[in-house]
Amino acid sequence: MKLSLDIHGVIDYKPEIFSFISKSVIASGGEVHIVTGGSWREELIELVKKSGVVWTHHFSVYDYLKGIGAKEDGKIQFPDGTIQRKFESELWDSIKGKYCIEMEIDLHIDDTEAYCKYFTTPFLLFKSGDDLEKLSHIDLINSSNVTKKI
Ligand SMILES: [Mg+2]
Repeated sequence: MKLSLDIHGVIDYKPEIFSFISKSVIASGGEVHIVTGGSWREELIELVKKSGVVWTHHFSVYDYLKGIGAKEDGKIQFPDGTIQRKFESELWDSIKGKYCIEMEIDLHIDDTEAYCKYFTTPFLLFKSGDDLEKLSHIDLINSSNVTKKI
């Protein structure tokens, strides 16, 4: 079993659920992939560690796109206040799906429905139940009134 988990809006909203699931998967011989838009920096690693979630692999959309020299297009703000450069939306939205195909992930859990169309891997849309008024990130440049979940 290869499970991949988003961080913002998923792990950080219900850490007790994903801590239990991730430990169960790894204890059963499976893999847990942290698949996030955020840069894999100390602050983000600490956030995951504090959540109690364990993992075998990690992948950052931001770090990947930066690494291949993709063109930047605006900025986003995560719920923790971190501001990060972003990339062209269709490219950004498609990367998690491609990663899951390449890594032969069995199930991806995410709170951003827009990513679904790029997935052939089973995709479980997560709603924590108490976050309906919250947004996972805010696009700071491309529109002042339109927000988009990541
Ligand atoms: Mg998210």
